[in-house]
Amino acid sequence: SETIERHEFGAEVGRLLDLVVHALYSDREIFLRELVANAADAMDRRRFEALTSAASALPADAKVRIAPDKEARTLTVSDAGIGMTKEDLATNLGTIARSGTRAFSQTLESAKAEDRPSLIGQFGVGFYSAFMVADRVTVTSRRAGSDEAWTWASEGQGNYTLEPATRAEPGTDIVLHLKGDADEYLEPYRLDHLVRKWADFITVPIAVVRDGKDESANQGTALWRKAKSEVTEEQYEAFYHSIGMNFDKPWATLHWRAEGQLEFAALLFIPGSKPFQALENERQSKVRLHVRRMFITDEAELLPPWLRFVQGVVDTEDLPLNVSREMLQSTPALARIRRAVTGRVVSELATRAKDAEGYQAFWENFGPVLKEGIYEDFERRGEIAPLLRFRSSAVEGWTSLPDYVSRMKDGQEAIYYLVADDAEALKSSPQLEGFKARGLEVLLLSDHVDAFWPDQLGSFEEKPLRSITKGGLDLSKFALEGEQPEAPEGIDAFVAAVKTALGSEVSDVRTTDRLVDSAVVLSAGTGGPDLQMQRLMRRAGR
Ligand code: ADP
Repeated sequence: SETIERHEFGAEVGRLLDLVVHALYSDREIFLRELVANAADAMDRRRFEALTSAASALPADAKVRIAPDKEARTLTVSDAGIGMTKEDLATNLGTIARSGTRAFSQTLESAKAEDRPSLIGQFGVGFYSAFMVADRVTVTSRRAGSDEAWTWASEGQGNYTLEPATRAEPGTDIVLHLKGDADEYLEPYRLDHLVRKWADFITVPIAVVRDGKDESANQGTALWRKAKSEVTEEQYEAFYHSIGMNFDKPWATLHWRAEGQLEFAALLFIPGSKPFQALENERQSKVRLHVRRMFITDEAELLPPWLRFVQGVVDTEDLPLNVSREMLQSTPALARIRRAVTGRVVSELATRAKDAEGYQAFWENFGPVLKEGIYEDFERRGEIAPLLRFRSSAVEGWTSLPDYVSRMKDGQEAIYYLVADDAEALKSSPQLEGFKARGLEVLLLSDHVDAFWPDQLGSFEEKPLRSITKGGLDLSKFALEGEQPEAPEGIDAFVAAVKTALGSEVSDVRTTDRLVDSAVVLSAGTGGPDLQMQRLMRRAGR
């Protein structure tokens, strides 16, 4: 009819649409997040506008409604939000009005083809992501405060149409005519799942229509944005259970709000048990990043890998909703948030480490991961070291570096340690004999990472860390606590004979004060790697 106006998309929109639709993506489900976020924003804006103009008050039962229609093969997302005028439709949906999207679109264009799916998947491209699942989209909208309604329609192919429409109330309906391969978005259970996954904590009600009835799909409380005093332990736990495959009680719950230069709310958990999935496989922190409640990504690496056992949410005002991964990684606000969040977790650990029994549970689950921080995080090394716990030749249970130092003998300059694969083998190692006989304590290390971090740390409270399997340790200044053994007769001739027999297999054969009961012990050179490191290097084929 003559009332239909035909318009060309802005050149940038055409390119963006093309990129979005033709990039092969595995995450196209995020279109729902984008549409629901827009709908929720529109409702927030209407609520805000109603403060100054009674005419457009948001109805009390306003919600975002997601309605699949199997016969028509459409999915409709409706809201009672602020709505759009004809001009709004043309500007917002026909051009790239926002600099964020423009920059994102440029990033997308310059990204390698194989990187595009994850860019789109992680950050979406707002409204246009609808064309990932639909070959035709119509948007019918009525601006609050106006009687006029308009329908915008497009097949995402370079042009769109505008025509007059009717809508009883202010708000917007977005109708997606689904592509042949997008049937899954007609299933209420699938839509329900997506809302839970992407938008569960949006504060406006979201309903999925099932058998003609609206069913609430989100909980709608951004728990982390509430004051601590308003949240019960049960609510914390329910949230903790909802964010990961957690069935236990959290060992620690950290809930705080940063205000001032940085604005964010954080709700983090340290699990009470080790996750089934080994922390060795996945090294990235999965703490979720939200921007103004909307879930953005769980790949923002909000915490360093050595705190990857921490779970939860950080929600900030300081980032735009639509930000590409590259932009995210380089934004200074995110770097500052990371620092603040990491510092908070470390200081929480320091506080809780004072309760030896309580801390033990944490240590036994995540200690080996925390140790990685010593060689990965130069800056935090000093804070991490006192948080480490060890088995020891001198005490039962766990001990720490400060405790070790407080027990050091007069004249003892170094912190002694022994690394091996097997904790049990450590206790009876001949390497320990001479130390035990002189009352010198040795830390016993048997985690994977123990071969690496002591060299990196170097020293603690100015006491160097010394592997006792390295040569060059002189124990003669420490008196034996038991009987004094006699030097056996003919020892020099014996040593010379062994040396000749082994030839170039060894670099030296010597008498030692490191043994008491055993006859011989293998020792590493003074420089170079210790025995455990040599074993690892051999295993790695070096
Ligand atoms: P973004 O939401 O990140 O700004 P989009 O491409 O998703 O980008 O949307 C562009 C603009 O269109 C929005 O900023 C908003 O002004 C308008 N818009 C989109 N959906 C709606 C809606 N449901 N109600 C009102 N306005 C909307």
